[in-house]
Amino acid sequence: MDYTSKVSLVCPYCGGSSFNETGSKFVCIKCNKSFTKNELEKSNGARINKQIQTVYEKQILPDIEKKVKTSLQKAFKGNLNIKIK
Ligand SMILES: [Zn+2]
Repeated sequence: MDYTSKVSLVCPYCGGSSFNETGSKFVCIKCNKSFTKNELEKSNGARINKQIQTVYEKQILPDIEKKVKTSLQKAFKGNLNIKIK
């Protein structure tokens, strides 16, 4: 299962999301400030965490539930007359 999700990094000064990547620096197209990737990731930390949380709740949890349900159904199949809804 692939849980890739994209979070666009935004400029902590102007909120712009377009950057010119020059070597290891990211230069904001709007306000021309430059950041390292690390700085950008730090300033976007809350957004990134929120995105991780969303992926977990919307994608990973339902998958886990599905798998548990399927394996339970397999385990009981033919043995017991239990219906899992
Ligand atoms: Zn900016």
